[in-house]
Amino acid sequence: METFLEELNEAQKAPVLHKDGPLMVIAGAGSGKTRVLTYRIAHLMDQGVDAFNILALTFTNKAAREMKKRIAHIVGNSEAKNLWMGTFHSVFAKLLRFDGDKLGYPSNFTIYDTQDSQRLIASIIKEMGLDKDIYKYKQIQNRISSYKNSLITVKAYFQNPELQEADAMAKRPRVGEIYQNYVDRCFKAGAMDFDDLLLRTNELLNRFPEVLLKYQDRFRYILVDEYQDTNHSQYLIVKALSDRYQNICVVGDDAQSIYSFRGANISNILNFQRDYDEVAVYRLEQNYRSTKNIVNAANSIIAKNKNQLEKVVWTANDEGSTIKIHRSITDAEEGRYVASSIFENKMQEQLPNGNFAVLYRTNSQSRAIEDALRKKDIPYRIYGGLSFYQRKEIKDVLSYLRLVINPKDEEALKRIINFPARGIGQTTLDRLTVAANHYGRSIFEVIENLGKIDLKINAGTKRKLEDFVTMIKSFQIMNENADAFTLAEHVAKKTGILLEFKKDGTPEGIARMENIEELLNGIKDFVEGQKELADAKGDLTEFLEDVALATDLDKDTGDDDRVALMTIHLAKGLEFPYVYIVGMEEDLFPSAMSMNTRSELEEERRLFYVALTRAEKQAYLTYTQNRYRWGKLIDAEPSRFLEEIDEKYIENLTPIENTYRFKPLVDNAIFGEVDKSRLRQSKPVKGEPPSIRKPNENQLRKLRKLKPQLATPVGNTNVVDLNLAEGSLVNHTRFGKGKVLKIEGAGNDRKAEIQFEKGDIKKLLLRFAKLEVL
Ligand code: ATP
Ligand code: MG
Repeated sequence: METFLEELNEAQKAPVLHKDGPLMVIAGAGSGKTRVLTYRIAHLMDQGVDAFNILALTFTNKAAREMKKRIAHIVGNSEAKNLWMGTFHSVFAKLLRFDGDKLGYPSNFTIYDTQDSQRLIASIIKEMGLDKDIYKYKQIQNRISSYKNSLITVKAYFQNPELQEADAMAKRPRVGEIYQNYVDRCFKAGAMDFDDLLLRTNELLNRFPEVLLKYQDRFRYILVDEYQDTNHSQYLIVKALSDRYQNICVVGDDAQSIYSFRGANISNILNFQRDYDEVAVYRLEQNYRSTKNIVNAANSIIAKNKNQLEKVVWTANDEGSTIKIHRSITDAEEGRYVASSIFENKMQEQLPNGNFAVLYRTNSQSRAIEDALRKKDIPYRIYGGLSFYQRKEIKDVLSYLRLVINPKDEEALKRIINFPARGIGQTTLDRLTVAANHYGRSIFEVIENLGKIDLKINAGTKRKLEDFVTMIKSFQIMNENADAFTLAEHVAKKTGILLEFKKDGTPEGIARMENIEELLNGIKDFVEGQKELADAKGDLTEFLEDVALATDLDKDTGDDDRVALMTIHLAKGLEFPYVYIVGMEEDLFPSAMSMNTRSELEEERRLFYVALTRAEKQAYLTYTQNRYRWGKLIDAEPSRFLEEIDEKYIENLTPIENTYRFKPLVDNAIFGEVDKSRLRQSKPVKGEPPSIRKPNENQLRKLRKLKPQLATPVGNTNVVDLNLAEGSLVNHTRFGKGKVLKIEGAGNDRKAEIQFEKGDIKKLLLRFAKLEVL
């Protein structure tokens, strides 16, 4: 018996030891699905299966790396290196480098990131003379992306009257043409966007049986983690590759399907048994991650969803403490609470920062948390904001490198043809683009042939264009012998980019220069690291691919100790001893955009389930009564999800002075279904008198004992009785001087509408507004 199998329980051992044929593991959070997948791979190798015959698909590249490390530990490093493991995108990008030429792509194709795609779509919309307020490039990009993920090619689009009608109804009858142009332009540029990596793989496997056979034969064992979040395109690839040997192992949890907005299809997991013959289904029930309190609370939440597979999750872990719920008055205060609570836990338990995570529904919520953590000198890292590789200066340098590899790369060329400034203006670029479209060539090729075509470009500009091409070509020659680092360093100096930012001299310019240095360090690391790997050369193409597919999570080497800040979506599969879920408010979580249908609301609830089940020891849920959103202070009300957790498992840190467990501060209900559900939640909890009351001394004492610094009751105590009238001149700490236009409401709800000198009109709740009467 292999000794590593002893690290599994009986239920986990069964799928690990399962012989050939399709199998599925369906189980709740923290029950060891990822562990089963990892150990199954180790076991297969132990049984003599060649690492080259195994393909494992994970949700992040970081997860793949960790799995590989674990497997290397069990079976040895040299063998583990030969495993094909990674996200769908990175694995199939690699495959397309080998065989994409059959579809007409160069092996050094560029990968367009979302920003590149959006820029290209924006310029197509402009070239077509369409109204950019109707044809919004981000929306169109989204639409094209979802077509691609559903395998709706341009041809399929034009054969489908319903799709065309839908776009026409949305007053955007020319989406199809944009789609067509976009696909043509990407192809001409030798570029694939993220969705192409899946779409083209499907196309390749469909159109070229010999290629399909080759990979079916190679990947005799296929394993997929987080199967519940695969989209149609991914599903079809897995289906095609596993069709011959049917050694397919998928693990997942329908209760954690949270990517339907990106086309993930929960029915992939529900239909798995239909798709393959004699599927073995395994269930795991024991959670190893969290305390009883957390597991039970999470169970009580997910039970509210109608659409789900029956599942049991229990744990033998400690009871643990209750889930703490904290209310604050503003989002800034919420941030301060989280920071001081982290600080306190850290000190009391002597824990590293890496034991803490703050999770939120939307990226914009991170700012208030960041501010507070900074003030307390707690190091943190934000995942998933603007990635390092998307910063302007980094993309500029990378664009030069991309152009060296693939001179047809239109988006790269457009970025840097005049950066640093070399006197090539927009008009010239527009003329070049028109000519490129006309001749069906790339802009680079047009410049190379300027002598042969008649363009209205004067001799001076022509010379500058030719110099540019000569420079890129000199880099290409250098690239034949130099490694990626040497070339990149040369490019950064020779093009004048480094000098440009140095000259700038502002702190921002200096920061940008430092970022470029950081990029160069990164390239150096990459080159060194790649030299160790069996099938990598450490060249520029590989580096660029790595960068294009890198997520922030991937950069986390784990060697610096920081609090993790990220969206819940990004936290899937991860675990932390202490988890803070912030912004537990209606319209934020659940999101305002996801309350129209039951299925949307259920997805939000699954998201909450994912969030809570990341916690090992302790979970905190926080909400605030007022929040700045879109530059406005809005009244927030507690999330319905707070109501849904079984009371047994929670504890309110901020006592509630009135009849409601979580009473909305101001009833700002809107219309329709949402309205009704809010009314339902506002029902008084049985047994308590329906009058407003403050916590009594006894309760206060209890609370003080619990969390001394948190026990100060908040709310009514802060009322500032400002002597305000219409026409009063006021000063606000943040918005500056202004004039009161209107006053409404009374007592706690007293609000003033103020015209500020800076132009904004804002409505402020007086008891919170930091106002001074002038
Ligand atoms: P999620 O649904 O969140 O992806 P999961 O089902 O993939 O969770 P894992 O991440 O594999 O669960 O396991 C959760 C935690 O429990 C991990 O820290 C893992 O190491 C630990 N664990 C799993 N099985 C066992 C076991 N048999 N003995 C001890 N620890 C285990
Ligand atoms: Mg997992």
